[in-house]
Amino acid sequence: MLISCKKATELIEKKDIFGLTKKEKFSLDVHVFLCAKCKKYQRLSEELDHTLRHFFEAKTDEELKLSDEKKGEIKDALKK
Ligand SMILES: [Zn+2]
Repeated sequence: MLISCKKATELIEKKDIFGLTKKEKFSLDVHVFLCAKCKKYQRLSEELDHTLRHFFEAKTDEELKLSDEKKGEIKDALKK
């Protein structure tokens, strides 16, 4: 039932692009619950996804600027 870290990171990537089946999502949730490394990876991946989306959807130069708060958050996430 438990999936490997490699499989978990694959599912995390897949989730962002295609979405996951119920079974895949469950496997991933269990793995992330037990594995701090993948939990961090998933959080970072979501954060990055969110940031990229923000850039793609931004219509003005002002919106394209990352707030200092956001920059700090990303820096912190990468440090941990
Ligand atoms: Zn893992």
